[in-house]
Amino acid sequence: MTQFIGVIGYPLKHSVSPDFQQAALDYYKLDIRYEAWEVKAADLSSAINRLRQPQNLGANITVPYKETTLRLIDEVDDFASLVGAVNTVVNRHGKLLGFNTDAHGFIKALRDDANFEPENKRAVILGAGGAARAVGFALLEEKLSSLIIANRTLAKAESLAGLLAKHAANNKISAEIAAVPWQSSKVTKAVENCQLIVNCTSLGMRGSSYEEESPLASDLIPKDALVYDLVYNPSETPLLRMAQKAGASTIGGLSMLVYQGAASFKLWTGREAPLDIMFSAAKQALTKIGG
Ligand code: NAP
Repeated sequence: MTQFIGVIGYPLKHSVSPDFQQAALDYYKLDIRYEAWEVKAADLSSAINRLRQPQNLGANITVPYKETTLRLIDEVDDFASLVGAVNTVVNRHGKLLGFNTDAHGFIKALRDDANFEPENKRAVILGAGGAARAVGFALLEEKLSSLIIANRTLAKAESLAGLLAKHAANNKISAEIAAVPWQSSKVTKAVENCQLIVNCTSLGMRGSSYEEESPLASDLIPKDALVYDLVYNPSETPLLRMAQKAGASTIGGLSMLVYQGAASFKLWTGREAPLDIMFSAAKQALTKIGG
């Protein structure tokens, strides 16, 4: 019997997950199809329920359903509960288990591809949505010394900073955690003093109305900082261009995407993901859609 995995989100036209996940499944000659399941909000609950059928191994969950899905499944692992978002669902005999592999992907890319050790470093996170939550908790677990969050909607940055501060206090992690208003002098000061800047907003994303926008100008970026843009299409975003102009190191979102997908692949199949095959399929798919 052919089995199925899918990515559930809306819209999905720019997702490259089907390309690199299918390449990995084909590498192992598994009779499994990875499909794009574009689902409208009203149909999310039935789409999640369908994952219980024996032919379905599970799914990736993407924007805008990572938070809602948490409430529609049977069990959520500790880290996904902490983050409040699920990006991977596994069907175990009709029971749906939820995981968050975004944080793993983010940290693996930070260490392995950007050669950055987060312990005792100061970071600025731009954005306070689902990705920022995963990045914030991941960095805190890695014992950063300072985490400043700037977001267009300040209340969301404050709420995330509050959750992170509570987690730090409960786990005896000592870190300075604060929310600051978007594009304010407080952002300028935090950026000046940090070693890591992470863009977790959608600014710069191809196909959006803000694809030409960078959350920071080049004269604000310190040359000894690492600038990490979670946006992976295009591979060179306006922010990464600004960072290069400032002489800073850069990393784009593609490796995080592949590493989070590789962790999901292992959860569904129990096999080590063939990373080289996945990277090459993801790059090819991005080239096709203009990334
Ligand atoms: P989300 O929950 O919808 O959050 C979007 C964030 O972007 C919010 O902080 C939002 O601010 C901000 N934003 C949107 N438009 C803006 C604008 N015009 N000006 C300033 N800020 C703006 O989405 P998400 O899941 O966190 O994803 C965020 C980005 O990360 C997306 O581009 C996504 O593709 C990328 N991502 C990449 C990976 C990867 O593996 N590389 C994984 C996850 C996400 P407000 O709160 O003010 O609305």
